[in-house]
This record gives sequence, C-alpha cells and structure tokens, in this order.
Amino acid sequence: LSERIDSEAGEACETQDGCHVSLMVNAGLSTELETASASSGQVGIGLYRTEIPFMLRERFPSESEQVALYRKILESAPNSEIAMRTLDVGGDKPLPYFPITEENPFLGWRGIRLTLDHPEIFLVQIRAMLRASIGLKNLSIMLPMISSVAEVNEARRLVEQAFFEVEEEARHQNVTLHRPRLGIMLEVPSVLYQLPQLAKKVDFFSVGSNDLTQYLLAVDRNNSRVASLYNSYHPAVLSALYDIVKQADQHQVPVSICGEIAGEPGGAVLLMGMGYRKLSMNAFNLRKINWVIRNVNLTEAQSLLSCALTSDSYEEVYHHINQYLEKRG
Ligand code: PEP
Ligand code: MG
Repeated sequence: LSERIDSEAGEACETQDGCHVSLMVNAGLSTELETASASSGQVGIGLYRTEIPFMLRERFPSESEQVALYRKILESAPNSEIAMRTLDVGGDKPLPYFPITEENPFLGWRGIRLTLDHPEIFLVQIRAMLRASIGLKNLSIMLPMISSVAEVNEARRLVEQAFFEVEEEARHQNVTLHRPRLGIMLEVPSVLYQLPQLAKKVDFFSVGSNDLTQYLLAVDRNNSRVASLYNSYHPAVLSALYDIVKQADQHQVPVSICGEIAGEPGGAVLLMGMGYRKLSMNAFNLRKINWVIRNVNLTEAQSLLSCALTSDSYEEVYHHINQYLEKRG
C-alpha cells in the first residue's frame, strides 16, 4: 500500500511554471491509508483529528492509551511534520460517554472551549502527545475553534505546564524532549480580525474552511434544509481565505489549509492562486490533486482567482472553474 501511494503522491508537486505546493493528509479515520501516505516520506499529516479515536471508545482513553496511539502515528513518519489537533468534540461530534445537550451545539461548548473548561482532559492529552514525541521532532500541536487571543494564552499556559512535567520525566530517563510547534485552527470568523495579535503567539495557522464556511455564512454544515447555502466557493468565503493567506504572509506565520476545499480540484487551484503552498486533504484525494497541480500554472490560477473573487455567487465561481479545468483537460 505504502509503495502505491509513494508512486502516486511522492512526485514533486509543482505547477508547470515551477510553483511548489506541498500536499499533506488529514488523518484520524482509516489510519492505514493515511499513515501509509505519510510514511512514504513525502507528505506529512496536516490534521490528525484526535477526537475520532475518542469517539470510537466507551470511555476517555487513559494517558498511556493515548501515548501508545500518538506514538504509532508520530513514528509512522518520523521525518514529516504531524499536526495533532487537540480534542474537538461538541457540535456535530458527540462523545457517547460525555453527553452535552444544547439548543445550538455549533455555537456552544465545543473544541477548545470545552477542553479549557476541563483542563484535566486537556492536560492529559497534551502530556500524552509530548510523551509520545520523546526522541522525535515531528510533533505540532493544533488548537481547534479558537475565537480569541485569551483562549490561546490559556492553552499555551497549559501546554507549557505539561511540557515542564514531561521534560522532567524525560530528563530522568536521559532522553530529550523536543519543543512542539503550537498552532491554531482559523475557523471562527472573529480570528480574521485578530491575526496580527495571534501571529505573535503561535508558530503556525491552519485554516479550517469547513467551519469557517459554516460560521461566515451562518449555515449549519449538517442541516440538509439549508445545504444549498453551505458552500466554500461563496465569494465571501473565498475573500476570507485570500485575506488570511495575505495576512499570514505579511506576519511571516506559516499557513496551511485542511478543510475539504483543499482536496477539490477547483479549490486547490484557487488556493494556489491565493498563495497557499500547503494543502492538507483526505488521503484518497492526494493523487487527483497532485495531478491537477502538475497540469496547471500559477499565472492562470491567479486569473481564475480574480474572476472568482468578483463573482456574484458560487454558481458563477463553479462556471469559471469548470471552464478552466475543461480547457486544461
Ligand atoms: C474544518 O473545520 O475545516 C476542519 C478541517 O475541521 P473539522 O472538519 O474537523 O471541523
Ligand atoms: Mg473545524
């Protein structure tokens, strides 16, 4: 399996005019495929959704169970960057053994909000990630659903606390603990207006375009009645994504994107045109996106982007994308 992915995704992913784009995988579900892609040595994991193993259990996994789980993932691709996201439950992702009843779950107790209110859950998870990373250098920690600078400060403080605890342990065992990179998901619209402040606090940004679309358009991403309104190609969403990459570049913070749009041909081209150079997607989209990128050029992606940004609707954006992709075969 790993060899197959290697030959599919391992080629340099470069546009015809020499613009290099890194592809990474979103992991958490079919770990075999995902870690096989990562261990091909060419792609890292841009998003490891830790809530998935939590959701498959009947109780919270213990710290040592988590260490074993995370160690396996980190060791599967020791030379590639692996971004582990802290528990992102609540909203559409319930934990059977931690029921939450709310009228507006997507606006409620989810992601970082829940774990900051339960620092014991957060600390166990961070310690587990750090213990799993002993002797390795590829761990990045990513915080979901950040909506304010205060949440980052609080989470950082807890990460520091866990780091000192695990570092102490590591010192006794004469092994080194590498400091992980700390990043945040950009998926709540408020952070678009706080990027200069946030840039000073974190090592990287990762755009969660699925939630950003839901919150920017005020459309529940799982409500079939309004499904036709939920669309990441809405020109307002595209403008937000463009704005983020420009600001991130200006503040010299590495930025990647891990929402569904990154794994779609038209989306990948638009994102490249905006300036994104790291796209993280489901493993089964890697091959397709790799092919698309090698068959387009940056200048054309930029003109496609200009048309998209000035469109009136996502239907019009689709029209421009389809015209372009058809021309490119
Ligand atoms: C997102 O919101 O875009 C994202 C990648 O996270 P999730 O889909 O797990 O909420
Ligand atoms: Mg999200």
